[in-house]
Amino acid sequence: MKVTLLGTGNPLPSPDRAGAATLVQAGSRTLLVDAGRGVVLRLAAAGVLPMQLSAVLLTHLHSDHICDLNDVVTTHWVMSPVTQPLQVLGPPGTAEVVTAMLAMLAPDIRYRLAHHDDLVAGPDVQVTEVGAGATAGVVLDEDGVRVLVGPTDHRPVEPTVGYRIEHDGRSIVLAGDTVPCAGLDELCRGADAYVQTVLRDDLVALVPAQRFQDTIDYHSSLVQAAQTAARAGVRRLVLTHQIPTPAPGSSAEWLAIAAAHFDGEIVWGDDLVAIDL
Ligand SMILES: [Zn+2]
Ligand SMILES: [Zn+2]
Repeated sequence: MKVTLLGTGNPLPSPDRAGAATLVQAGSRTLLVDAGRGVVLRLAAAGVLPMQLSAVLLTHLHSDHICDLNDVVTTHWVMSPVTQPLQVLGPPGTAEVVTAMLAMLAPDIRYRLAHHDDLVAGPDVQVTEVGAGATAGVVLDEDGVRVLVGPTDHRPVEPTVGYRIEHDGRSIVLAGDTVPCAGLDELCRGADAYVQTVLRDDLVALVPAQRFQDTIDYHSSLVQAAQTAARAGVRRLVLTHQIPTPAPGSSAEWLAIAAAHFDGEIVWGDDLVAIDL
């Protein structure tokens, strides 16, 4: 199993960090978790084309996690020799977003259908809404790859979910944006890797902008992510979607703060960092 951080950025534009997106290659399955700014560009850099995706898993419907889903859908559609379904899993609300997105793409779909005789139908996006229950459950089980979903806590954004992907005795958790909670702990228990979006509350608190400070209360702080990793007994903590955007050369400071609370391996997330599990 291999995980590649496609985009480690937060909502503020950065020249070096694409938006939230993570690629998990497990056995015969290629899974994309979230589809933020620049995702198709980074997929290409990782050697994967949208038509090769087995499924897209969305943690929540905040724009920084889904804003380039339309590019995934369109590119998947026009590059597939024969129209094939694209599975999209996400929390309740996902069907509404995908329906509206396809409406936005309607002119483009019309142009391409009119121009290419071998294109006989528009994109076939199959949405499954997951995570409505309170407990973790298996939502995909194909060819030895299991995907479990669990509730997270990113209120007032709700519902939100995290995913645990298991294959060949290995497991990885993609938490998305969340504060520590029981659902996250359960998902993470004993995982080989736990990928968490993190925020430095000590730095954000210094920025005199209320809209920025508002982000503190619904993200895991760096310390909280390390504490979750320790409590759940994971092997590695992977830091992504760092807020604020880390200053050049500051990674050692971030890693030291996390290491005070977690003695496993801590991986610094930059775009296209990959981990073999
Ligand atoms: Zn969010
Ligand atoms: Zn986010």
